[in-house]
Amino acid sequence: MTRVQGCPLCDETGGRLVHDATKFRVIHAVEAGFPAFYRVVWKEHVAEWSELSSADRSLCMDAVAVVEQSLRDALAPAKINLAALGNMVPHLHWHVIARFDWDTRFPAPVWAPAQRERDAAREAAVEAALPAVERDMVQRLSSRSF
Ligand SMILES: [Zn+2]
Repeated sequence: MTRVQGCPLCDETGGRLVHDATKFRVIHAVEAGFPAFYRVVWKEHVAEWSELSSADRSLCMDAVAVVEQSLRDALAPAKINLAALGNMVPHLHWHVIARFDWDTRFPAPVWAPAQRERDAAREAAVEAALPAVERDMVQRLSSRSF
């Protein structure tokens, strides 16, 4: 497996590990104001989506869809945001972010300037639901041939 020394996603998990599959892992990312922020990190060091084979793209997108579905079912967010930027860390990873109409940047991207104050009570309620969300997510991921 290609690893690049000094790449944060080759050297480290990149967040709290939720699920470890053969070709990818799912992590929970600590991003202030966004309690349900996950990443699907491809284990092989590739920078661009088109570097993956068609089969691997399909597998990775299925994993992203499973994470998304678990978030939708448990949290009923206003929207799920999917993004693969890699400008800061050019190691393929998909952001899967549950967005709420009360979050600090909604409806703008999470990287936009804040539009309102954080809602600590609502954030805490989402955080409290995450263990159950993640149990469901892992169960769904484990039941697939990833
Ligand atoms: Zn890497």
